[in-house]
Amino acid sequence: ATPTAVMVATGVGASNGVLIKGGDALERAQKVQYVIFDKTGTLTQGKAKVTTVKVFSEMDRGEFLTLVASAEASSEHPLAKAIVEYARHFHFFDENSLTEDAQYSSKGSPISAWLLDVAEFSAVPGRGIQCFIDGKQVLVGNRKLLTESGVSISAHVEQFVVDLEESARTGILAAYDGNVIGVLGVADPLKREAAVVVEGLQKMGVRPVMVTGDNWRTAQAVGIRDVRAEVMPAGKAEVVRSFQKDGSIVAMVGDGINDSPALAAADVGMAIGAGTDIAIEAADYVLMRNNLEDVITAIDLSRKTFSRIR
Ligand code: ADP
Ligand code: MG
Repeated sequence: ATPTAVMVATGVGASNGVLIKGGDALERAQKVQYVIFDKTGTLTQGKAKVTTVKVFSEMDRGEFLTLVASAEASSEHPLAKAIVEYARHFHFFDENSLTEDAQYSSKGSPISAWLLDVAEFSAVPGRGIQCFIDGKQVLVGNRKLLTESGVSISAHVEQFVVDLEESARTGILAAYDGNVIGVLGVADPLKREAAVVVEGLQKMGVRPVMVTGDNWRTAQAVGIRDVRAEVMPAGKAEVVRSFQKDGSIVAMVGDGINDSPALAAADVGMAIGAGTDIAIEAADYVLMRNNLEDVITAIDLSRKTFSRIR
């Protein structure tokens, strides 16, 4: 392609909200064979909501939510934010107003009014969080977090979590003083266009793949056949490299801090415009409309620019 063609294509991209950082990135996109999507915030809306609260102890729901939200209050994780938000509304409204479709208003009781004191908070990457409340250990996260700390999960609790996961929800377990006290189900719906884009890529001869830190069952329920689940935060770049091993050209689409090493490792990194600055910096493309259809726009634009003139 001539420099003029590249300039024109870059302009066409920009007017569609597809920002391209240079001619090399524009050229590589035409050769993409795999598009690896991050799940949370990229394929999904990134608006996690608690849909299920099940207490497996003597505690009532209010006590359970207070304990779990207190433990999660220091976490930046979207799952933690969903839990704290839910608990805030539980304490402000009555429990029956918290249905799955409830529109959470920005109001709510001031958190300081009911949060418990937390000691020794720590985030466990890819697993959850741990801390101490009233001198007792509190764990909130996935199975691995609990079992690695020696908390056993009964068949009854396990079945409850499996049921959540099979309906594409993330099951979050909470343990207090060595015992499971309850489970929360969190849903994060897919973006409206996700399925169409996945199908569209396949029709173009490009293979869609999903990578996530979430568990296998929830990941599989999303509907993309090629899935890498339970990937540790540092592991996403490794997944990109594994696809590149045979010389394949790989695009990565992501939004999070976790995704930036993978965006940098990919032949074509595409950041969601609403994503974190670090992801945007690491990427070759920024999709300003936050619409996954622009992954296809970007590949099309490159194909049109380079195939004709070569
Ligand atoms: P992702 O953002 O793709 O879900 P993460 O590595 O951030 O990947 O998290 C992986 C899993 O670890 C989550 O699905 C969840 O089960 C658990 N987890 C991580 N952080 C938290 C947290 N603050 N509270 C509860 N669970 C968590
Ligand atoms: Mg994400």
